[in-house]
Amino acid sequence: MAHTVTLIPGDGIGPELADASRRVLDASGIEFEWETVDAGEAVMAQYGTPLPEHVLESIRRNRIALKGPITTPIGGGFRSVNVTLRQVLGLYANLRPGRSIKGLQTRYEDVDLVIVRENTEDLYAGIEHMVGRDAAESIKIITREASERIARFAFEYAVANGRHKVTAVHKANIMKLSDGLFLESCRTVAADYDGRIEFEDRIVDNMCMQLVQKPELYDVLVLPNLYGDIVSDLVAGMVGGLGVAPGANIGLDAAVFEPVHGSAPKYAGLDKANPTAMILSGALMLRHLGYPTEAQRVEDAVRDVIAAGVATTYDLGGPAGTAAFADAIVARLEN
Ligand code: NAD
Repeated sequence: MAHTVTLIPGDGIGPELADASRRVLDASGIEFEWETVDAGEAVMAQYGTPLPEHVLESIRRNRIALKGPITTPIGGGFRSVNVTLRQVLGLYANLRPGRSIKGLQTRYEDVDLVIVRENTEDLYAGIEHMVGRDAAESIKIITREASERIARFAFEYAVANGRHKVTAVHKANIMKLSDGLFLESCRTVAADYDGRIEFEDRIVDNMCMQLVQKPELYDVLVLPNLYGDIVSDLVAGMVGGLGVAPGANIGLDAAVFEPVHGSAPKYAGLDKANPTAMILSGALMLRHLGYPTEAQRVEDAVRDVIAAGVATTYDLGGPAGTAAFADAIVARLEN
């Protein structure tokens, strides 16, 4: 039976990466029916919104989507499609694994971290207003319900994936109420896993330094939305950059898989961007659908092509374009 998946190519480099990812996943041995729908800048004029209702309906119906990056204007313009999607569909958990890839020149070896980022509240709740002309307020929302839910997701992920420790990351020394509640919620949930999964907490600034100095001490990190966003780019940088960092947004009723990186407008249409992050997001999707063997095959094929070093994109030091990189991965899968 073919799996129907909503495919949102996105803006900038998104369409090229979506095409590359679709071809690789079609070679994974699992049959997909791709329902392609457009969101982002390109559809603004036609629908008056970057996120038309039929896009949401498609994801609700199929319960699964693979998505390219979508541009968010800075300052004015429409609200982030990415943030809206996560909130509207209740995709409360943002999973971002950061794992070193053999053959990839980076400052670190053997990094193996998993970021679990709360995806629906914090400063991303979008509650902002001006106070007179010369001051602005953004309101940070942290609830016990969302914090316990994300902490439980992190612990359940740790149990299901053979990980040994969860570290809660916060700034509860300064934001005693909001971050204090996040930490308290993590502690409450941790008690249910006592003796099975280790638990500790770190203040976010210290966490950044520790990750740079001794990443091997950490395993699964659970963070509120903003720190999760920032720390996941830090971890992406440790394993080879945004071009290789995959992600998943998971809720009770749907899941949307997408790279950590944005739409990199300067490379749009140039066949230059690295498709790895979106392809590895597709591998996370395969795992989510219950195909760990096929997911592993895709991950191994990507790793093999990177280790061989001849068909990779500019950011990995190679001479190939997006399509040729994907061709090499497809060829590995087909052999
Ligand atoms: P970006 O991730 O697009 O680019 C940051 C840097 O990484 C750039 O130098 C870019 O060229 C490089 N890069 C990113 N992806 C790459 C790839 N696959 N291969 C090679 N190099 C790659 O971040 P930005 O410039 O801050 O954002 C651009 C736009 O994307 C903004 O409108 C932003 O809001 C949006 N954005 C969207 C998402 C999403 O859709 N989930 C995430 C982040 C940013």
